[in-house]
Amino acid sequence: MMYQYIDSHAHLFYEDYQRDLETVLTRAKDAGVKICIVPGIDLKTSREAVLLAEQHENIFACIGVHPHEATKATDKDFGEIEELGNHPKVVAIGEIGLDYHYDFSPKDRQEEIFAEQIKIAVRRNLPIVVHTRESIQDAFAIVQKAVKTHPDWKETRTTPRRGVFHCFPGTAEEAEYVRGLGFYVSYPGIVTFKKSEIIEIVKQIGVHNILLETDSPYMTPVPLRGKRNEPANIVFIGRKIAEAFHITEEEVARVTTENTMHLFGLDE
Ligand SMILES: [Zn+2]
Ligand SMILES: [Zn+2]
Repeated sequence: MMYQYIDSHAHLFYEDYQRDLETVLTRAKDAGVKICIVPGIDLKTSREAVLLAEQHENIFACIGVHPHEATKATDKDFGEIEELGNHPKVVAIGEIGLDYHYDFSPKDRQEEIFAEQIKIAVRRNLPIVVHTRESIQDAFAIVQKAVKTHPDWKETRTTPRRGVFHCFPGTAEEAEYVRGLGFYVSYPGIVTFKKSEIIEIVKQIGVHNILLETDSPYMTPVPLRGKRNEPANIVFIGRKIAEAFHITEEEVARVTTENTMHLFGLDE
């Protein structure tokens, strides 16, 4: 039985894949991954993500400046990202957000470019892919303000369409809060880690409110930890969630794929 997964977050532009990207994509297809979403982390890699999307029918791009790159990005970069937002294979602005763990850029600059890029998403009527680490309350405040200011941005009468908090570090209550703002949460291989309590949180959130991602080349799931990650490994995440929910892998794949198609407008 072949399940159809979507890897909602894979950085396939990294050098890690330069030698064997076609093999990686074939393995993904053979494992049932029908689409990969590739988020840029700055202007250069956003362009690379778009190029990959142009070359591969099953790849879609997100464009944006990651908080790690906040200091290096210029106004001109954001102008070009906005321009690139018109590309037919660009499905979101991201990944954008706040990262206080590494603190590679000053907090106020991170906050400034996060808010600025949400405005680009609003103007382009695109969802956003949010990265947050040790910064969840500040990230919530910025997103909440944007939603309040622009209530018709990707208006969400039924299920979320405004974006996803990827590699979600929060509690089930916090996931419920972001759902109220029109956001999904997504999970990579950390759900498979032995000591991870995250799987318990995922159980409380429910499969209807999540997306799956590999976050390739990072976050390699058990049993492949230590190796380079790739989209085909999404099956280990799907399997773990199926076990935890006592449902079939097929059901996990079906629901999370539907969520991802809905969020990125791939079902339109
Ligand atoms: Zn991230
Ligand atoms: Zn990422």
